[in-house]
Amino acid sequence: YNLKMAIEQTLILIKPDGLFRKLTGLTIDRLDASGLEMVAARMVSVSDALAREHYKSLSDKPFFANLIKYIRGDFHGLKDSRVLAMVYRGEGAIAKVRLIAGATNPEQATPGTIRGSFGRITTTGQFENVIHASSDPVDAEREVKLWFKPEEILK
Ligand code: UDP
Ligand code: MG
Repeated sequence: YNLKMAIEQTLILIKPDGLFRKLTGLTIDRLDASGLEMVAARMVSVSDALAREHYKSLSDKPFFANLIKYIRGDFHGLKDSRVLAMVYRGEGAIAKVRLIAGATNPEQATPGTIRGSFGRITTTGQFENVIHASSDPVDAEREVKLWFKPEEILK
């Protein structure tokens, strides 16, 4: 049968632990092997304002303050805090990248996924799960717009 999925764009961030642990190449290799196409990429120094806007739906969670520290690189000695932001495009891109990423909690993520293989929970309880991936079409559109100008994304 021929199952056609919508062409989507999804935002991926290699988080500070992913950069610190030199998982950049591995992550891109797995994303490329999915058949999706990289259409934007940029190293970003994450401001407090950008971090809070990106994770605004989680602002009432008990882990929010540490999540902002984490995404800004405060736990990885990255003085010039940064992440690698990318947009991948293709059929069913959002779900495909979520499958490659694995579940949010690295302890529950399927072995072989990026989070299942390389994520960890620190002794202070912080999830370090290597990458961010947009979770649904509404989030994906909002996040792609937040991290990239239209002219930075290949047509
Ligand atoms: N997070 C955490 N503890 C939790 C849930 C989430 O530290 O109990 C962090 C984790 O880094 C996660 C991020 O907050 O990736 C965003 O949470 P979300 O529920 O959106 O998970 P994701 O979409 O990243 O899988
Ligand atoms: Mg999410």
